[in-house]
Amino acid sequence: MRETNFIIENNARHLWHPMAHPAEMQAHPPRIVNSGEGVEIVDIQGKKVLDAVGGLWNVNLGYSCEPVKKAIRDQLDELPYYSTFRGTTNSPLIELSYELAEWFKPDGLSRSFFTSGGSDSVETCLRLARQYHKINDQPERTKFVALKKGYHGTHFGGASVNGNQNFRRNYEPLLPGVIHLPAPFTYRNPFNTTDGAEIAQAIATLFEDEIAFQGADTIAALIVEPVLGAGGVIVPHETFLPLMREICDRHGILLIADEVITAFGRTGAWTGSRLWGVKPDMMSTAKAITNGYFPFGAVMISDKVAHVFESNKNSVGNIGHGYTYSGHPVGAAAALATLKETKRLDVAANAAARGEELLAGLKALQNKHELIGDVRGKGLMCALELVSDRAKKSAAAKDVVQKVHDATYDAGVMVRTSGANVIMSPPLIVTAANVQTILTALDAGL
Ligand code: PLP
Repeated sequence: MRETNFIIENNARHLWHPMAHPAEMQAHPPRIVNSGEGVEIVDIQGKKVLDAVGGLWNVNLGYSCEPVKKAIRDQLDELPYYSTFRGTTNSPLIELSYELAEWFKPDGLSRSFFTSGGSDSVETCLRLARQYHKINDQPERTKFVALKKGYHGTHFGGASVNGNQNFRRNYEPLLPGVIHLPAPFTYRNPFNTTDGAEIAQAIATLFEDEIAFQGADTIAALIVEPVLGAGGVIVPHETFLPLMREICDRHGILLIADEVITAFGRTGAWTGSRLWGVKPDMMSTAKAITNGYFPFGAVMISDKVAHVFESNKNSVGNIGHGYTYSGHPVGAAAALATLKETKRLDVAANAAARGEELLAGLKALQNKHELIGDVRGKGLMCALELVSDRAKKSAAAKDVVQKVHDATYDAGVMVRTSGANVIMSPPLIVTAANVQTILTALDAGL
């Protein structure tokens, strides 16, 4: 490893960062994170801060999860790679598919298809949804319905169902035949109400209206995050997802739950679907499945969808989709160890309890700081929306949001900003004292 000065001088010089303007990164190079321990990270200057971002919603068990590290090391020694394309597989993957079928049994999901991350998982769901209808002799069901403010990764399919212009405009034209419904958002919506149940009903009515207009027999699937993450932690009313499920069922539309963030306890329930009492037809997962230590994802598939594929003996049932790293043995070993630790530590219960403390503390900060327009959260995914004028709900200026971020960092806590939102998604192992540290630093930052 080269010396510190070399690293600092070359920061952002030869590499482009995701979700960042290269020129801006060159002018204001990103922070260099050198190490992590427990729920803290240490930057190249030696400053230690509590990571209230949890890596990127994924390091649920923190940075010192020895069983996962050991599983990775051991698997590297045993078998560092082999393909899972037709004809070969590996032992940890078979064990993982068994464990995942157990894990997701309450969600009605029993088959898995492996990927290298969230965008791959979303893409896989979209492709399998179309194929499902083709096998079912409904080849015209090709369209997708999604939510504005939804985030589904950055592959062309995922970007097409994405509900934020930042991830779309510069890459258009995207997939045709995608319909976006409003987000179930109480703070900002086109319905002139703040009542979550009314908003859910209004979106359901729009969905029905679109189905009538497009023709149900042209729609393949609805894709939703049970709690919208990157769009600013938007928590739907409890009636929302059940309403969507019921409409999908009535019209033969598949429901894809994008649980790349929510699948392993972050909302305080083991899955976001379970949180709302809904069984999806497919679920995309990634991130926390390996505690962020290895790029990996799994698409979970319901019995209903599986049956259609498995009972078809023609070429239309052949899955012409997959990745070199689908089912990577090291990822599988990491996921097995992560699932075991996730269950042993019962992190969903901790996420629920600590999440309530964090949300209550953020609401107290709202009473103190005019800058906070809205506070939202479920479990350990929370957001503050910063405004320059509370009555008008006008978004806070970019430099103000950056200053809050930097001052909070100086006070010892890393948060993430996205537009005018300050987002918190700490590891699910945080203590009550860690939650207070986050709140104290944010108070200082604000
Ligand atoms: N879907 C959701 C809900 C996500 O939050 C993300 C990433 O944050 C993705 C998909 C894309 O995942 P990845 O960045 O691993 O490709």
